[in-house]
Amino acid sequence: MAFDTHFVSLEPVARMSTARHLVMPIKRLIAAARTLNARIWRPARNATGAAPDSAACNVCGFVAIDGHPRLCPGCGTNERQRSFKQLFSQKLDREVFGRGPLPDALLLSPGTVERSLLFPKFRHHVVSSLHQTYHKVGRFVRADVRDLAPFANGSFDYVQACNVLDYVPEMQRAIEAVHRVIRANGVFVLLIPEYNLAKGDAPIAVSLRASVTGNYWPDQTSVPRVRVGRQTLAAMLKQSGFEPEEVRLTEPLSGLHCTWWICRRK
Ligand SMILES: [Zn+2]
Repeated sequence: MAFDTHFVSLEPVARMSTARHLVMPIKRLIAAARTLNARIWRPARNATGAAPDSAACNVCGFVAIDGHPRLCPGCGTNERQRSFKQLFSQKLDREVFGRGPLPDALLLSPGTVERSLLFPKFRHHVVSSLHQTYHKVGRFVRADVRDLAPFANGSFDYVQACNVLDYVPEMQRAIEAVHRVIRANGVFVLLIPEYNLAKGDAPIAVSLRASVTGNYWPDQTSVPRVRVGRQTLAAMLKQSGFEPEEVRLTEPLSGLHCTWWICRRK
């Protein structure tokens, strides 16, 4: 396989270097300073006292009066994390979690907003990633989404992969692996960013680029970027045994569109 250089075998969790021990607290300080700054400089509300929802961050409340920032100056979230909060409030909280917490979940490389909203919705959850390392997230298992080998068939009621599959040239294999570990009637929620979604039945197109998401890639100069047609993705999901529902949202602060798929396993 052309991209098997990215296929890293399972290895022990959490080997954090001294440098990262220093970097993590610094990042937290920067995030706290940003939040404080946003509180001080947040523009006055309009005459009715209501914040203009059209440009408000649904995580920290920051309101942009000039332009539509992709990264919130208040909390540092990107549009995908804020869009997940929209999806959660508008659909998942009622349609998926309406009857109370689900027993078991697998969260693939989840962001901060995903973690804070989803963790209380499961009795047990596992966080997993191939290259990224997570701390203080409960159980963490390093796994490759192309086989999810550490997990037995039918282990989970819910799997989430936001901005994950568009790094996987073997996307169909990954979807089949998720299908294998989900129980009947379980739910798979995924997002592929708009810039990696093509129109219609465009086939999967793979290119390589420098990392845009972090320094955890084995080769930061050569990270796969996978684009796929919307219909092609829906067809792959159906072929693997899911019933996909496509949900298109516009994220208020950035004004950007985000497309989610909520997929029931047959
Ligand atoms: Zn914010």
